[in-house]
Amino acid sequence: MEVLYRSTRNAEETATASQAILKGLANEGGLFVPDEIPEMDVSLEALADMSYQEVAYEVMSRMLTDFTEDELKACISGAYDTNFDTDLIAPVKYHHGAFILELFHGKTIAFKDMALSILPYLLTTAAKKNNIDKEIVILTATSGDTGKAALAGFADVPGTRIAVFYPKNGVSPIQEKQMVTEKGKNTFVAGITGNFDDAQTGVKKMFADKELNKYLDEKGFQFSSANSINIGRLVPQMVYYVYAYSRLVKAGTISAGDEINVVVPTGNFGNILAAYYASLMGLPIKKFICASNENKVLYDFFTTGEYDRNREFILTTSPSMDILISSNLERLIYRIAGNDAEKNTELMKSLNETGKYEITDEMKKNLYQFYGNFADSEEVSEIIRKMYDEDGYIIDTHTAVAVSVYDKYKVDTQDETPTVIASTASPYKFTRSVMTAIDKTMEAKGDFELVDELEKLSQVRIPRAVEEIRTAPVVHDTVCEKEEMEAVVKKFLGI
Ligand SMILES: *Cc1c(COP(=O)(O)O)cnc(C)c1O
Repeated sequence: MEVLYRSTRNAEETATASQAILKGLANEGGLFVPDEIPEMDVSLEALADMSYQEVAYEVMSRMLTDFTEDELKACISGAYDTNFDTDLIAPVKYHHGAFILELFHGKTIAFKDMALSILPYLLTTAAKKNNIDKEIVILTATSGDTGKAALAGFADVPGTRIAVFYPKNGVSPIQEKQMVTEKGKNTFVAGITGNFDDAQTGVKKMFADKELNKYLDEKGFQFSSANSINIGRLVPQMVYYVYAYSRLVKAGTISAGDEINVVVPTGNFGNILAAYYASLMGLPIKKFICASNENKVLYDFFTTGEYDRNREFILTTSPSMDILISSNLERLIYRIAGNDAEKNTELMKSLNETGKYEITDEMKKNLYQFYGNFADSEEVSEIIRKMYDEDGYIIDTHTAVAVSVYDKYKVDTQDETPTVIASTASPYKFTRSVMTAIDKTMEAKGDFELVDELEKLSQVRIPRAVEEIRTAPVVHDTVCEKEEMEAVVKKFLGI
């Protein structure tokens, strides 16, 4: 069955998978969504005997139907290889009464690697299939982790260039150092004097600017996106939920067909949406537990049915979730409205003009599988300390938001369904917050001293990604206003 992709804001606009990946964003700011999600026709038992790469092929081939088997297998084997520090790619570990799905074993030690290590392969394959002769310019806004993962994925990939914008004062020191030391010759990184939403809005504006796109075209360039609005990121993210489930079956923890819950620390709503898409494909998931930090716009939305971004933007210890406009929620809104582009457009217009919208009761009913809650920075520190005390396992601040919310969920519901928690970053990426949570006296130490202390406590070797930047020189030092983003992109491209 051929899966077509359709814009959430215009029912007439369709694309094949490869075209949707190339474009990133649909016209008029819409997002591409699959017309239909095909049922998995491989049994869950069969998946239990497969490797990560094999599961990836089974899932992705159902969604990216205009890629040939050879093309897709080449993309998968190129991405999920020794870039990851374990053959398992995404190990599942049992701690604190839940199955922690470690998604941070890739090159940049955040879960963004799960999709961004394969996106460059998908994109360059898609360009070939569609006879694109332009150089592809990846424009990316990052709350910290996408930036480095995208830079690492696209660095020195022929036919591509990549520009990354991050909030100058809104990322962790390790995150910033990872980005500004990027050596790839086709890369550009700039801090902006604003927050993540400013960066994302600026990037979306450039995508939508017809004149700018025409000018680029004349100069031999074409924009694409590495943000989670690109379907080429969502589809690879469906894989690890299927994989995690299959590992539980393999271990005999559950039987094929049993339901599980998933808990996802959420920002832009990409990761949790991928879990939802995996369930539409047939993965038995009972509840999607959406965990937010103090920027709890999604918790409020799931509780009241009103999405309202008119509030203070709070800088937390889980910066990759400091977001008030969760872009991928639009895909869920479109679906619960009955795949209604008109209704969705109306709500997004309201979001754009007034900063809020309210869904109908009918739509709200379709959200019964979602549960939202949030944890503040104090609770995050507490749970990191608590889990360390329990069995020496150390989690990062984002994962801690998820664990804390899972504890609240259990108190609220008494639900004992086996639960997978997405662990989205290595604690080495947020050493300062993590180490001071465990021991307040760590406050006084330098960033890399803390790295060494974490190694002693956790008995987990310092990842290459961190070792590498200890002494690496800064390559990128541009800081600009959000109004200057277009100008700096042009300068980077030399046009
Ligand atoms: C990006 C990110 C998130 C949020 O994921 P979304 O797909 O944007 O919801 C959570 N944790 C970490 C560590 C991240 O990098």
